[in-house]
Amino acid sequence: MSATTEPAASTESAASAPEGAPAAGSPAKTPAKLVFAAPRRAKPPRHLADLTTDERRAVVAELGEKPFRADQLSRHYFARLVDDPAQMTDLPAPLRERLVGELLPDLLTPVRELACDGGKTLKTVWKAFDGVLFESVLMRYPDRATMCVSSQAGCGMNCPFCATGQAGLTRNLSTAEIVEQVAAGARAMARGRVAGGPGRVSNIVFMGMGEPLANYKAVLGAVRRITDPAPAGLGISQRSVTVSTVGLVPAIEKLAAEDMSVRLALSLHAPDDELRDELVPINNRWKVEEVLDAAWAYADRSGRRVSIEYALIKDINDQGWRADLLGRLLRGRLVHVNLIPLNPTPGSKWTASRPEDEREFVRRLEAHGVPVTVRDTRGREIDGACGQLAAATKD
Ligand code: SF4
Repeated sequence: MSATTEPAASTESAASAPEGAPAAGSPAKTPAKLVFAAPRRAKPPRHLADLTTDERRAVVAELGEKPFRADQLSRHYFARLVDDPAQMTDLPAPLRERLVGELLPDLLTPVRELACDGGKTLKTVWKAFDGVLFESVLMRYPDRATMCVSSQAGCGMNCPFCATGQAGLTRNLSTAEIVEQVAAGARAMARGRVAGGPGRVSNIVFMGMGEPLANYKAVLGAVRRITDPAPAGLGISQRSVTVSTVGLVPAIEKLAAEDMSVRLALSLHAPDDELRDELVPINNRWKVEEVLDAAWAYADRSGRRVSIEYALIKDINDQGWRADLLGRLLRGRLVHVNLIPLNPTPGSKWTASRPEDEREFVRRLEAHGVPVTVRDTRGREIDGACGQLAAATKD
């Protein structure tokens, strides 16, 4: 690992560095390369999903049309999940063409779709307007359908066990690029393209490519669009949305102040600073104690149980004493631990824990009264599971 914090790729980045982020060129307390500011690139075209209801009406008014036309367009996109302009028959054809051109540009093109689990898991590789590639995964379970979305193309957090991190950060996604991943999943479910018959996307997890809180503004906009009642948004409950982070403390605090009821998932992966400094390099900036304090404050304010994500890595972080240390840190808190058997990534020295070590880890956490589950590894066959969303991020 390098001994310096990598300077921001651009001083006029698409997203500003989170408050408290190490300044470019600051003396090196941070040993790994962390990229907070996304490289500067051309912006994706404006899309309905980037805008609030009022902003949509204003755009339509600027075009010399009645503002209610914006509501009609929103109803098609968010409520009826229509993506074929020919079906928007309540809009006169010439106007329809104009509005679609202005507010519903083709943002994402699917370049690859891979299915597994008998057609109940569907990974899509998307190409954006500038050739950037990223992925989303739709997973259908008996009681829910969960859409795992990317918030950045690549990631600047450089976690050594994660394939996405190794590819670096290409750029932040826009609000609409995030929302469109969910809308595409909703359309696939509604049209019966996922095994099990027509249905709805019920849950959203920001656990695809990227560190969501490093792209705060766009992610927050996407959460609002996903959860606003239709036709302003997709009308999915805030309680069904999970935003994950490796621990950008000021951004966690900012999210708490939004007073939403989305769940926070904290990718902890180690209970001690010595190991976490290596596994999750952001720990060199915000230590375990600080990040947990921020998580508890979030739990207090939102009333939601924090999900602690812990990838079990053989002989690295799966020792019994670490389970006990984790148990002591978490006991009595509004928390749930998600143990994730590490997904193998090509060429990596990191691998999943032995089953007996995994069982012992669970047993010890439970002995501390900490609720724990071992996450199922849906999508493993198609490299769609966490830490595997690594496809090259540029065509
Ligand atoms: S684990 Fe998450 S935060 Fe870390 S590099 Fe991978 S995508 Fe980024």
